[in-house]
Amino acid sequence: SAGPEGMDPETWAKVKDHPCYSEEAHHYFARMHVAVAPACNIQCNYCNRKYDCSNESRPGVVSERLSPEDAARKVLAVAREVPQLSVLGIAGPGDAAFDWKKTRATFDLVSKSLPDIKLCLSSNGLSIPDHLDELVDMRVDHVTLTINALDPEIAAKIYPWVYFKGRRHTGIAGARILLERQMEALEGLVARGILVKVNSVMIPGINDAHLREVNKVVKAKGAFLHNIMPLISDPAHGTHFGLTGQRGPTTAELNALQDACSDGANLMRHCRQCRADAVGLLGEDRGQEFTLDKLPEVIE
Ligand code: SF4
Ligand code: SF4
Repeated sequence: SAGPEGMDPETWAKVKDHPCYSEEAHHYFARMHVAVAPACNIQCNYCNRKYDCSNESRPGVVSERLSPEDAARKVLAVAREVPQLSVLGIAGPGDAAFDWKKTRATFDLVSKSLPDIKLCLSSNGLSIPDHLDELVDMRVDHVTLTINALDPEIAAKIYPWVYFKGRRHTGIAGARILLERQMEALEGLVARGILVKVNSVMIPGINDAHLREVNKVVKAKGAFLHNIMPLISDPAHGTHFGLTGQRGPTTAELNALQDACSDGANLMRHCRQCRADAVGLLGEDRGQEFTLDKLPEVIE
């Protein structure tokens, strides 16, 4: 089938069986996330560490946190029951590239038994430049980077601090480090042939007017998709942009921005912001059928 408007045929060939990237494939291929990576190296104003990273997953849900060994056991059990399983992702509940040892161990264990499964991870990008060549060796073919701003002044309103090289950097200085590393991550991944999707969280009054510029720049640097997600506002779950909290965009605001960015931009509108432990076809979550207590001890 023809790919989305503006996507080159080579990229489309790589993503057409990926349920997250192709509207069509999401009916036929299944994906699962395993929540092995709880640690994170930045603070987003919209995050509450008790819940899943809202960069990729729905905030306010607690996913089952697994060791790499248990995660691998779960993936193999799911692969037996769900023959359409084609993608394994690590989307937190913190940052998959910062909590690197666990991400790497999980992918290594799974690849031994399921060499054809596609691997992807999502990250705020800060730690990605440290692992570019390893990602190639591990045959990770998709990375999702969350980039919410290019301007450090705007970014400083979103990220109160960034933990880098052993210390916390606050305000504009911290934001600047994060933005530089995000661009290094994007360029380094693209240069190595790893597909990059960029997620942006739309935050009214903070970065909404700026996201068209983000869209242009990330596309020019080679991101194959730019996915604008709404801030899901829930003050009880850590949306603390001010004393009164921060609202999310209305559907009309979100649609207007997505339309404005859609020329050649391949926006992905069917992303469901799945849980960090989602299992199954997109739009379904069979995660509860595969919790640890329900897995066999040994999977041969
Ligand atoms: Fe939270 Fe994710 Fe931001 Fe880290 S990157 S602070 S886990 S939303
Ligand atoms: Fe796919 Fe869900 Fe991840 Fe979005 S959150 S990219 S729909 S698995």
